[in-house]
Amino acid sequence: MGDSYQTIVDLDASATDAEHLARQVLAGLVEEGVVLADRTDCVLGRPLGHPPGPNWERAVTDDWDQEPWDGLAVHTSRTGFTSGADLPGAAVCPHCVSATPLDDRTWPGFHAAMRTWHDTGAASVDCPGCTAAVALPDWSWDECPMAFGHLGFEFWNWPDLTDDFRARLSELLGGHRTAYVWGQI
Ligand SMILES: [Zn+2]
Repeated sequence: MGDSYQTIVDLDASATDAEHLARQVLAGLVEEGVVLADRTDCVLGRPLGHPPGPNWERAVTDDWDQEPWDGLAVHTSRTGFTSGADLPGAAVCPHCVSATPLDDRTWPGFHAAMRTWHDTGAASVDCPGCTAAVALPDWSWDECPMAFGHLGFEFWNWPDLTDDFRARLSELLGGHRTAYVWGQI
């Protein structure tokens, strides 16, 4: 069986407040018993993560058939979170809600913005629909979600996280906007 991940990305956290917010959320999750405070070798792509706590079921849907067998990796640096190798078919503008197909004509602009965002933390793409300059993290994406942020909570091999849990995590972030990215490797 492959490994799956679900990541809740804070879209509003800046590079400077990511560490502080990460500690705040972890304290809340540890208190609720969703994860344990002590880190172990339980995640992919990072040295250490937080293993499931005694109340991990509070984070997931009722119809789970397998307990989480890995833990939570916390990312506190500028990261483009993706759902794996696939790229979205379209980018959706937050202003005019028009979908821009990502093809040979439009992809280079988005790709360049992603590189710039990675290097500098700020980039925008002009919407072909309404001509607004839309910040890269503000675009939404069709079937393969992506998210660009400085703080991400990546759950490895957990059952599906509930909407309610995602809302609670957003509250722990002080009401920040979050994106939900999932994938399999
Ligand atoms: Zn637009």
